[in-house]
Amino acid sequence: MSDPSRPQVPRIFAVANQKGGVGKTTTAINLGAALAATGQKVLIIDIDPQGNASTGLGIDLGARQTTTYDILMAGAPLADAVQSTNVANLAIIPATTDLASADIDLVANERRIYLLQTALQTPVGRSYDYVLIDCPPSLNLLTVNAFVAADAVIVPLQSEFFALEGLSQLMLTIRDVRERANPGLRIEGIALTMHDARNNLARQVEEDARENLGDLVFETVIPRNVRLSEAPSYAMPVLDYDPASRGAQAYRALAAELLARNA
Ligand code: ADP
Ligand code: MG
Repeated sequence: MSDPSRPQVPRIFAVANQKGGVGKTTTAINLGAALAATGQKVLIIDIDPQGNASTGLGIDLGARQTTTYDILMAGAPLADAVQSTNVANLAIIPATTDLASADIDLVANERRIYLLQTALQTPVGRSYDYVLIDCPPSLNLLTVNAFVAADAVIVPLQSEFFALEGLSQLMLTIRDVRERANPGLRIEGIALTMHDARNNLARQVEEDARENLGDLVFETVIPRNVRLSEAPSYAMPVLDYDPASRGAQAYRALAAELLARNA
């Protein structure tokens, strides 16, 4: 019998911002690990040709036989691509640099924006509680696939000047996907990342973001914390690398906030 307290389908989130280096991958890995630590069954889909989420979770290049590219290009079954990680309840579909040519390789495919959605609308896709899609730093076909497949977008926003400027383009893309393919797509939340509370500018960015975007901004702020940047080289989420670190605490808090919103 199915547990009525569990959702019928996974909550699917695209972790996206067309700017590079703002904390998308760090958020996908560590939010994913923090959700998994509460007993949720979590799948991370690496849809960035750089494959940083795959590397950060210890999937060596040589072990990436079936990848996101095969799912999009060849309709490979999700089950063939899913790999377990060293973290309980946390699986990943890895990515390789092949994905960099997806925009071109898929140009003749009329269903090209629906490929990830189609892959997830299968029993294996539905067997997770949470799916986090780690997007590339671009509003390209890969990110659009994530937006079509997702319930909502989580936007990591680096606490620096100009941070808010890129948001309007991201919002336009979300609106476009809503109109074309996924009417229910919403922004789940904006996560301020790499925040340094001693820095006036960072405080100003937070103030501006909360003033202009209100409830869209997660209460949890992710501090700049060196443990977060060290953890991937040990192929671990920060929760395992240094569970007491401020970075680990912050991602646990973000997971709790997300769980409360989606209860
Ligand atoms: P993106 O996926 O948006 O390109 P990453 O998550 O890869 O961004 O982060 C970019 C770099 O910043 C990485 O080296 C990462 O380890 C580091 N980083 C991310 N978040 C933090 C943080 N809160 N504190 C310190 N370093 C961070
Ligand atoms: Mg990344």
